[in-house]
Amino acid sequence: MNRSPVWHPFTQHALEPPMTRIVSTEGAYLIDEDGNRILDLISSWWVVTHGHRHPRIVEAIREAAQSLDQVIFAEFSHMPAERLAAELIEIAPPGLRHVFYSDSGSTSVEVALKMALGSFHNTGQARDRIVVMEHGYHGDTIGTMAAGERGVFNAAYAPLLFEVDRLPFPQAGRQQRTLDMFEAVCRTGRVAALLIEPLVLGAGGMKIYAAEVLAGLAEIARRYGCLFIADEVMTGWGRTGTLFACEQAGIRPDILCTSKGLTGGALPLAATLCNEAVFEAHFSADRRKTFFHSSSYTANPIACAAAIANLEIWRSEAVEERISRLAGLHRRHLARFEGDGRFTGVRQIGTIAALDLAVPEGGYLADAGPRMRRLFRERGLLVRPLGNVIYLMPPYCVTEGEIDRAYDAIDEVASLVLGKPR
Ligand SMILES: *Cc1c(COP(=O)(O)O)cnc(C)c1O
Repeated sequence: MNRSPVWHPFTQHALEPPMTRIVSTEGAYLIDEDGNRILDLISSWWVVTHGHRHPRIVEAIREAAQSLDQVIFAEFSHMPAERLAAELIEIAPPGLRHVFYSDSGSTSVEVALKMALGSFHNTGQARDRIVVMEHGYHGDTIGTMAAGERGVFNAAYAPLLFEVDRLPFPQAGRQQRTLDMFEAVCRTGRVAALLIEPLVLGAGGMKIYAAEVLAGLAEIARRYGCLFIADEVMTGWGRTGTLFACEQAGIRPDILCTSKGLTGGALPLAATLCNEAVFEAHFSADRRKTFFHSSSYTANPIACAAAIANLEIWRSEAVEERISRLAGLHRRHLARFEGDGRFTGVRQIGTIAALDLAVPEGGYLADAGPRMRRLFRERGLLVRPLGNVIYLMPPYCVTEGEIDRAYDAIDEVASLVLGKPR
């Protein structure tokens, strides 16, 4: 019986055993109170990039805590926030000039939506529609749920969620339909922004689409004067093979959201970057045009120091090589499942690999999901399928041997769940 007062996220406590208590983390592993080492193949919900407790990040946190804790971020600033903002602008897609800090991916998206709506409000333009992509995910606050896919997760809150326009997912061969639909919505003249996860829809089932579609959408947005918001909360920091996914489409988003890997996964921090026009629309002697948003822990100096250390790791270590090595390992292992009747949709982008278990009922509540999760855990692996979608998103320090283990387990677990011999 789980007598803990703690209520866990996305957890049905009536069906789950008590939570495993973790006492330490190290590289690609979580270590529980019995000393078991659990291989973290989903980077602790997509936040850990280099590995748990990278020494450089741990040291930066220790050092920052010697001199700073939270500092009110109106009227005051501090070096960690200033330096991080300057460095982010250096490496982000071109055109982004201002950095607004918050503390989670969801808030970074809320900030982006408010920036977009505020821009048009402040310049006297009647644009209030938000366009998103089917199967998108942008967070769990009321605002970000409104922009995300509707379903079992948000059915209870549906009456409070605002309307958005949804573009069909651009499946191979049906991409033009997505572009045409976007252009049709843009013609109303009411669109404030397109909010989109570039190249891969994460929580929606690791759905990957072509960079050309992303480029096409950005071009339409520009032509019709609506803002392009790239939600790079999951895709940033090398996940798709490049630092930001937008780079692969050669686009310049007006607003970009980053969080998860920003501190290498050590501390909560988020940033919403925007271009000059968005900032200018709020820059005025009229106080009503102020950007009215703050989180208590905005620009936490210790989190900013961790993020600076993360950027330092990107500059000084062979991060790109680790990413391309991991991408190569995925490619090689996924090849063995191509044409295997147990799976459909074998796919990969950068460090993310995914495949769907061929079960009669898919979807997020498919029984196969929790069953697979338990079977992976019995093998010492942390893998949490999204319904019948099995995916791996390991930290970049993962070794070849560990990836071998992961794919052998997928092979085994799939057969167990499908009840068929291999
Ligand atoms: C995880 C995620 C978010 C929400 O981030 P939180 O830190 O969990 O609030 C938003 N957008 C995308 C694409 C994400 O994957």
